[in-house]
Parts: sequence; C-alpha cells; structure tokens
Amino acid sequence: MKAWEKNVRKVEPYVPGEQPKIDGIIKLNTNENPYPPSEKVMEALKALENDKMRLYPDPEAVELRDEIAKKYGTKRENVFVGVGSDDVISMCYMTFFNSDKPILFPNISYSFYPVWADVHKVPYKEVEVGPNFEIIVDTFKQENGGIIFPNPNAPTGLSLGLDAIEQIVASNQDSVVIVDEAYVDFGTESALKLVDKYDNLLVVQTYSKSRSLAGMRIGFAIGNVALINALNDVKFSFNSYTMNYTSIKLGVAVMDDWDYFEETRKKIIATRERSKEELTKLGFTFPDSKANFIFASHKTVKAEYIFDELKKRKIYVRYFKKPLIDSYLRITIGTDEAMDKLFEALREIVA
Ligand code: PMP
Repeated sequence: MKAWEKNVRKVEPYVPGEQPKIDGIIKLNTNENPYPPSEKVMEALKALENDKMRLYPDPEAVELRDEIAKKYGTKRENVFVGVGSDDVISMCYMTFFNSDKPILFPNISYSFYPVWADVHKVPYKEVEVGPNFEIIVDTFKQENGGIIFPNPNAPTGLSLGLDAIEQIVASNQDSVVIVDEAYVDFGTESALKLVDKYDNLLVVQTYSKSRSLAGMRIGFAIGNVALINALNDVKFSFNSYTMNYTSIKLGVAVMDDWDYFEETRKKIIATRERSKEELTKLGFTFPDSKANFIFASHKTVKAEYIFDELKKRKIYVRYFKKPLIDSYLRITIGTDEAMDKLFEALREIVA
C-alpha cells in the first residue's frame, strides 16, 4: 500500500439502477416517467440563446425559483434549487445534520440516506418500519440530530397522512425534519401545507418523476427563509453555478404546462391501479403504492428468478438483494403497452 492510499476516503457508494445501452428494452427499473416532457419544453429548448452558453448561468437561478414559488404559492426566498433532489438532500445533510446525535430514517427506505450519512460523517440510526412496511410515527419520538423520510416511501410506495407527518414535525422541533416528496404527485398529500406553520420542516421535490425531466437534473426544497439561507450558504461554499442555463429554462417551461402535468400523472395513476389488479391475478402481493412503482412479491416464485427471467426478455425491473426486501421486485409504472408486455412475460415466468 502506498503512503497516500492511507489518506484516501473509503466510502461504499450508492448503486443507481441500470441504464442499459440495449435497443428495444422495456425499462421499468428507475422510476422514470414513461411519457416525454411537455411540448413546451421542446419549444423552450429551441428558443435557447446560443450566446448565453458562453456565460455562466445565474448562480441564484432566480427565474426557476420564481416560477416554482409562483406555482406553489410561496416566495423566491423560500425556494432552494439543486441538481436533482439527490443534490438538494446531500446539501441538506451538510447544512442541517451537524449534531453528535444520530439522524433518523426508516430501515426500509431510499438507499441513498445511509450513503450520504457516511460520506458527510453524520451518525445515523435506522428506525424500524412495521410488519407491513408502514412507517411508525412513534419511532421518530426519540433523541435525534435530524430526520429524513420519503413520502410516499421508497421502495414500498406507502404513503403517510398529513396528520402523521405533522406529529413527527411537531414532536421534533429541535431538529430539522426533511420530507422527501420525490413521488408525491402520484397520489399523496404534500407536507407543503405545513411549511408556514413549522420552521423546522423542509419539503424536497423533484422534476425527475412526475415532470418527466430526470435528464435535466432539477430538484428543489421549500421551507422557511432561515433554512433556505443556510442551505444557500453551504451551496455557495462549494459551487455557485450548479444549475445550468438549459435546466433553468426547461425547468420554467415544464412548470408552465400544468395541464400536461395533470394529464400524465393521472394516466400513470390509472395504469398503476390497473397494474395492481393484473399483478394480483398473477399471484403477487404488494403494499398499496401511491407512487409510480409497485413493490411486489410473488407468493411462490422467487424475486431474483423473476428478475433474471424478465431481463432475458429485455424487461428491466429493480431487485434489491438486501435483508427484508430480497423477496420483492420494484416495478416502475410504464405506459399501458409496456405494462401489458410485462404481464405477458410474467404469465410465462410464474405459470
Ligand atoms: N428521493 C427518492 C426517494 C428517490 O427515489 C429518488 C430517485 N432515485 C430521489 C430522491 C432522487 O431523485 P432526483 O435526484 O432525480 O431528483
């Protein structure tokens, strides 16, 4: 071992879902939106100014923050934007989770949470979900240095009511509570309603799922001014130009087409509900998802086998070879046609 190798930070990185470079696959493994972004996004893309590429983008992304603030009935000072919600949450760890006490998140949840804790050297404790994967409010009533959980939860898809969220926030007013609402638009009530009431609540959302723009990397957080200012101070200490010119412009255009957003998210919800019926007929069980995926387990056939067999048929779903969840597959809701192909394949595999 060379001397400098002793000083290299060893981290176990997050493992993202596969992005296969194969033609003709059905991709149901990373919770992307099956529909393209609104036509307005393509128009905004064509209207980009060549000369603006030469310049640094607006470090404060004012145009985008104003558009988000307008759509969610808040002010620019209450909005923080980042390169996907992953970037926003990573900044949150650095900004808000600096206590010696452990931060809390559910033991079955977004697998990036422990990775950020390790990389930012934040102590953490995983609180146990119930026997049906439900988040238990009382598990968050213990000493902590901060709290984060997704609503709906990933990979289970289960959602928590606003009353339950309020209890968690209200009983932890000495900590910052982050509600990660990556999938909220697929049928869960947002905690945004509570941000004026609680100065320790930060709500994080993304353009990657319900707004069909995962490729542009846009995430945002809404909370009281003190939280947003603290986040900006940390962000500007790393890199002031995180949000590029194209993302700012396309992010504004997406927010401007609310009708299209409503149409596509409703289509996905309808396909999800139909998929629940089909999967039940095929012998699967699953928590009642309110997200754009279903976390399904087959009564008799092993998840890993189904995963491999689907892959042979060029259908990609997500399988986590981890304790407690290794008998489940996380299946993203695709178009109706894609889902029909999935059911056809499953009929062969589990028959
Ligand atoms: N939170 C959760 C719960 C997620 O599943 C994801 C998607 N991997 C993210 C945050 C991050 O999404 P993005 O960085 O694309 O906004």
